[in-house]
Amino acid sequence: MSDADFTGRAAIVSGGASGIGASVTRRLLEGGAQVAVLDYSAENLARFAASVAQRADQLLAVEVDVSDSAAVNAAVADFTAQSGRLDIAVANAGIGGVGGVAELDDASWRAVQSVVVDGVFHLCRASLPHLVSTGGSIVTTSSISGLGGDRRMAAYAAAKGAVINLTRSMAVDYGRRGVRVNSVAPGPVATPILRPALDRSTELSETYAQRIPLGRIAEPDEIAEVILFLASERASFINGAVLPVDGGLTAWTAQPD
Ligand code: NAD
Repeated sequence: MSDADFTGRAAIVSGGASGIGASVTRRLLEGGAQVAVLDYSAENLARFAASVAQRADQLLAVEVDVSDSAAVNAAVADFTAQSGRLDIAVANAGIGGVGGVAELDDASWRAVQSVVVDGVFHLCRASLPHLVSTGGSIVTTSSISGLGGDRRMAAYAAAKGAVINLTRSMAVDYGRRGVRVNSVAPGPVATPILRPALDRSTELSETYAQRIPLGRIAEPDEIAEVILFLASERASFINGAVLPVDGGLTAWTAQPD
């Protein structure tokens, strides 16, 4: 469990109703923060809200598609009007997508870009004016797929690469205005986004276990812990960093023994 104290702080987490985002939100609530969860799944929002019912007075669950800039602007405006401040934005919502470039039609390419890249842009743009006034911080959830090529994941890898350089650009532009912006780049994590792939291939977990130096995929809490560290004042001089949290997967060139 995170020992971070977020009393008096206000945070927004996109994609906060499942997986990594739900773990981040739960920890922020436990740390005393007011949290707005922006998620497009009514089902995930309802399930998550029920799981933190004892902290209902700290939670605003908003059904929003992050690819819709007007809806994101409205959600951020509503929350900040209620909370009076914004200290942390976690731009975490994302979807996967399978296919090499020649296999992708326009709609499947656009679907991934509009959530993964546009969604991060929309949330950060709406949040930055508020974060400038509190000296707050942004953490984006990218991926190790944004650090190198991945087989049959062209749209996702391109989008996550864009998230990484968007993160760095915001760090450069807003550092002097007191806002830190960093990214966590997870390797494989046991969440619903990865489950269809694990279900398609029984060998996938075994392959991951062999290729990841720590011998397993991550739990959502292990990623959330790093997101919250970067978001908190404990990371006061970390800005523009992209931190792989991947059990050593990207540290290994995978040369045969
Ligand atoms: P998840 O599917 O458990 O959670 C994602 C949440 O985002 C869901 O609640 C979903 O409803 C919401 N969401 C998706 N599209 C949205 C949209 N357009 N608007 C609003 N909400 C939306 O997945 P997760 O694994 O927790 O993923 C969180 C982030 O971590 C994503 O950006 C993902 O790309 C990244 N990531 C995941 C892994 C992994 O292996 N699970 C690895 C690297 C990076």
